[in-house]
Amino acid sequence: MDGLKLAALSASGERTCFKVGNINIGEDFLIIAGPCSVESEEQILEAACLAKEAGANMLRGGAYKPRTSPYSFQGLGEEGLKYLKKAGEACGLPVITEVVDTRDVALVAEYADMIQIGARNMQNYSLLEEVGKIRKPVLLKRGTNATIEELLNCAEYILTGGNKEVCLCERGIRSYETYTRNTLDLSAVAALKELTHLPVLVDPSHATGRREMIKPMSLAAVMAGADGLEIEMHPEPCKALSDAEQQLNGEELKELIVAVKKTVEFKKIL
Ligand code: PEP
Ligand code: MN
Repeated sequence: MDGLKLAALSASGERTCFKVGNINIGEDFLIIAGPCSVESEEQILEAACLAKEAGANMLRGGAYKPRTSPYSFQGLGEEGLKYLKKAGEACGLPVITEVVDTRDVALVAEYADMIQIGARNMQNYSLLEEVGKIRKPVLLKRGTNATIEELLNCAEYILTGGNKEVCLCERGIRSYETYTRNTLDLSAVAALKELTHLPVLVDPSHATGRREMIKPMSLAAVMAGADGLEIEMHPEPCKALSDAEQQLNGEELKELIVAVKKTVEFKKIL
């Protein structure tokens, strides 16, 4: 793959690792968990406690939601950022949240430990340039119609800005299949591990859109070489204001993490 001056894996095979809180991303297996959206101060605090108890090492929650319909819940904005930060601090978890607008990058960076660029904005070049200028780690999610090469070129945009702390995320691509929300492309994970030194995560929640498929896809992601997972969980999934059908509850998250940890250990002995 040509033209990747900064993102390509070099002949030495050296890989990027960076710290967020006390997690060493790229080395420690990262488990990001939390609700699709921050809905209230209580909801995110409860989610944070459940995520911590289940063994997650980072808390997620959207404050700016890129929704398919303009009539759906759009997130709490800055109020949501405040609740997220407070919940993370209360439970000792670093926090990640999405930025959707160049005008909000500085604000989001004030509250978050890691910044997410969502699938819909993977090729928003002004946004990529903006997060390239800051010194906060970035999680770049693959666009639903993007090739692996396009994803890597978008990471390259961030890296050229001087921000070296970039992590990629496979979250399912569009295919003709409609049973699942998207089609999880686990071959992209194996490919990315060959092509780039950047850590690679998998989001089985948005990939499948189905709660019951999160565990099998998470375990498969570990075996495909993923460096971590991003999982949606909610204290009461059926009441969630967004993505209710794909969120786990605290108990389900706990069971999932036990199985993921066993799989991570198993992979090490192969
Ligand atoms: C999310 O993680 O909140 C999200 C909207 O995911 P994606 O950008 O992958 O659709
Ligand atoms: Mn979601």
